Amino acid sequence: MRLRLLPSSFPGSSPVVSAPRVPAQPLTSFVVEGAGAGPLAVDAGSLGLVGEPTEMARIAGLVLTHAHIDHVASLPMWVEALLSLDRAPVRVHASAGAIEVLRAHLFSGPLFPDFEALREPDGRPLMELVPFPVGDPFELAGFQVAAFPVAHPGPTHGLVVDDGEDAVLFGADSGPCDALWEAAARAPRLRAVVLEASFPERMQAIADGSGHLTPLTLAAELDRAPEGVRVLLAHLKPAYREEIIDELTRRVGGAVEFLEPGSWVELGS
Ligand SMILES: [Zn+2]
Ligand SMILES: [Zn+2]
Repeated sequence: MRLRLLPSSFPGSSPVVSAPRVPAQPLTSFVVEGAGAGPLAVDAGSLGLVGEPTEMARIAGLVLTHAHIDHVASLPMWVEALLSLDRAPVRVHASAGAIEVLRAHLFSGPLFPDFEALREPDGRPLMELVPFPVGDPFELAGFQVAAFPVAHPGPTHGLVVDDGEDAVLFGADSGPCDALWEAAARAPRLRAVVLEASFPERMQAIADGSGHLTPLTLAAELDRAPEGVRVLLAHLKPAYREEIIDELTRRVGGAVEFLEPGSWVELGS
């Protein structure tokens, strides 16, 4: 199994002189591939900005953790790319609650057309928003995927993605969360958890109030990680990432790995 955080910034075009240790991650999308499974995309922050339509169409399934804009910003572009290759209906899997948000606020007219109502000449809808069950695993792109609610505003779900040999847990955006570690304990083949670290510790109140982690609260969560499971970090708010990395290095040293946008991480047995 391997996974990749998709790039969502353009290094080279930055006005900042010093080179950051971790490139900016303003938008969130992951791609995961497994034994006979995938590629599965998790979230669509930058999914529709990376590559040509033929490359975007290689994604065998898309599942969303939630409908916040940094996780769905390029969703319309990805759907359009697949439609240009006659792939209607383009299916997007999300929780019933997130689908409600997308229908009300994104695919409702003022921001973007209602692609579920629009049809190809032969009657196929352009897009289908497909609700996933919470708790019971479902099949997607050759993986077994299990969703669980996390501690973040709006309907938000973490996901365990399992190819039968290895599994990875995507924690989505979340503050400290019992359900996340309960899901980790239920996953026998778990190789890694992908967590967030959104704010530095001086912004603890904002992190707590918005359902995010700082190095302080992340360090406490790490005590709950199963033995031998890697902790991969993404979702460092670009303005604070150097500060977050410094604080985490002091607090937990090498206990976490920072995902490098664009690079594949090999997980597995
Ligand atoms: Zn969020
Ligand atoms: Zn987010």
